[in-house]
Amino acid sequence: MATLKGSCQCGAIQFQIEGAPKWIANCHCLDCRRATGAAFSTYVGVEMANVKFATGTPSIYSSSKGVKRSFCADCGSPIAYQGERWPTEIHFFVGLFERAEDLVPQEQVYEAEKLPWLHIVVEGDVD
Ligand SMILES: [Zn+2]
Ligand SMILES: [Zn+2]
Repeated sequence: MATLKGSCQCGAIQFQIEGAPKWIANCHCLDCRRATGAAFSTYVGVEMANVKFATGTPSIYSSSKGVKRSFCADCGSPIAYQGERWPTEIHFFVGLFERAEDLVPQEQVYEAEKLPWLHIVVEGDVD
């Protein structure tokens, strides 16, 4: 995978990532649900060193101690999650990417908080 490109809905924030993501995961925790308004969140975890914001700078909201959630101040799109537990990483929302169809989640996290009506079938998953 070469360069990944993404943007918020209005285009005020545009970024690119060199190289492949470290991981891609669906998070089912209540915090992410509230932060996005969506039933679950798919994150693309990358090394901060590989990220370049080509246009704009995301605004930051500290949703809990040691956690920064960024968003576009113009259109409100959630952009990324940064936590003290992963000091070198930034976790982007998959829906921002130009080729989100190529970014297939490999795992589910906080499954205990998953909404009971949600049943996830991951492409290529055999169990
Ligand atoms: Zn925007
Ligand atoms: Zn979460």
